[in-house]
Amino acid sequence: MTTTVRNIPEFTLPDPVHRIGGRATTGAGTETFASTDPTTGRSVADLPAGSVQDVDNAVVAARAQFEDGEWSTMPAAERGKILYRAADLIERDAETLAALEALEMGKLYRDSVAGDIPATAAVFRHFAGWSDKLTGQSASLCDIGDQKRFGFTMRQPLGVVAAITPWNNPAVIAAWKLAPALAAGCTAVVKPAEDASLSTLRLADLLTEAGLPDGVVNVVTGLGPVAGAALAGHPGVDKVSFTGSAAVGRGIHSYAGSTFRKVTLELGGKSPQLIFPDADLDSALPWIAMGNFYHQGQVCAAGTRVIVHESIADKVVDGLVAFAEQAVMGDPFDESSTMGTIVNEKQMNRIMGYIEKGRSEGADLVTGGARLDGPGLFVQPTVFRGHNDLTIAREEIFGPVATVMTFSTPEEAVALANATEFGLNAMVYSSDISRIHSVVEKLRVGMVWVNGWGVPDPALPWGGRGGSGIGRELGRSGIEADTEEKTVHIGYTGL
Ligand code: ADP
Repeated sequence: MTTTVRNIPEFTLPDPVHRIGGRATTGAGTETFASTDPTTGRSVADLPAGSVQDVDNAVVAARAQFEDGEWSTMPAAERGKILYRAADLIERDAETLAALEALEMGKLYRDSVAGDIPATAAVFRHFAGWSDKLTGQSASLCDIGDQKRFGFTMRQPLGVVAAITPWNNPAVIAAWKLAPALAAGCTAVVKPAEDASLSTLRLADLLTEAGLPDGVVNVVTGLGPVAGAALAGHPGVDKVSFTGSAAVGRGIHSYAGSTFRKVTLELGGKSPQLIFPDADLDSALPWIAMGNFYHQGQVCAAGTRVIVHESIADKVVDGLVAFAEQAVMGDPFDESSTMGTIVNEKQMNRIMGYIEKGRSEGADLVTGGARLDGPGLFVQPTVFRGHNDLTIAREEIFGPVATVMTFSTPEEAVALANATEFGLNAMVYSSDISRIHSVVEKLRVGMVWVNGWGVPDPALPWGGRGGSGIGRELGRSGIEADTEEKTVHIGYTGL
């Protein structure tokens, strides 16, 4: 299917059906759901709402490939070659992948084509290189009687990985889950989010084109409570890697707990940006603003609690307000837009509810706060001055809403930063290396950005503490989490 989207001349939609065992299929059920363009309100595609049977078929295909297929046993470097090829193909089709994401969830096309999609390719390239570098340990062991012992460990692929992904960065988050799993020799079933399945389907097709055997990666589109729940609870799955809400993550975790299944859960955040008086504000302010307004704040790592020293609070607020008021909300395909849309009406209502709550709890609305007239789902970037006990400072909004609060001592800054049920990431702005390091040590988070903000890099782990989840993706920890470690003792006698 070829379509023309506003100023995008031409791109091809992937076949909007499941990918199971190497086949594009509408599956066993007849129900469908619509994916909608939040800029125009028009339907983009009707997708099959995967049934329990479809999920079972996908897990069976992944299991069969894992047990009897060639993927997990092929020379690791050969797996790497296929993943390198996949990275090249993702770059080749960057414009299409970016267009699908802009179309389905209103992300700025230029951010996607220059950011998310190259990042997706980079994740595959990074883990392609890991394929043949998973090594174990070795040790001389204690003798037992006359028998000498030598031991080593080997890392073997875990099995079938279930990847349940959110809508906000669909391709790159699918890559975080797939690339290390595939490099390790696992097979996978992906359930993309209802609002943004198409780039994942395209990614699956590119993996096939790169040479991935049938059944290694399967994609079932569908609704969370049906297809997602069936996948998370399927006995043929060895690990569930989930990014999404705490409510769903809690259910996945308790089921995994009763079955001893492995999980990685990334459940969002309410991340602090700590700004000390010695920070270089000219370079810090664009990062602080980006940490709140990039992708309309629909980012797990967003730094929505701006914790600033009282001596520079007015400057920081003025700077944030300037960024907010210069924002151009518009068609994500339009070069002049600096902010796209909110993903769907439900999320828009949630954001507006939080803005109302901020007002009613007495926070000082400095700028923004309004929804623009439709059809597009646009909301103004919003800045409140307030404190850490406000609902808008405690709960994840997933919208462009910053709450600025002040501190007077570094101890107070750290205490405010840690006074949250989340623990995903934090940002620290300062030019004093001792200050930076001593604050970094005390932050109860999985990741800290110093004098900047951005996306995780595949070379180092990503994940949270406390209410932000369990486990790590990316880096050595990420790929090792897709393996089982086996210890081998070899008995031998002397010469
Ligand atoms: P969000 O509120 O950000 O959409 P969700 O946790 O609802 O977060 O969704 C994240 C992913 O989890 C999506 O792919 C969604 O379809 C899926 N999902 C939703 N409900 C469930 C469930 N009960 N079991 C498994 N997956 C689910």
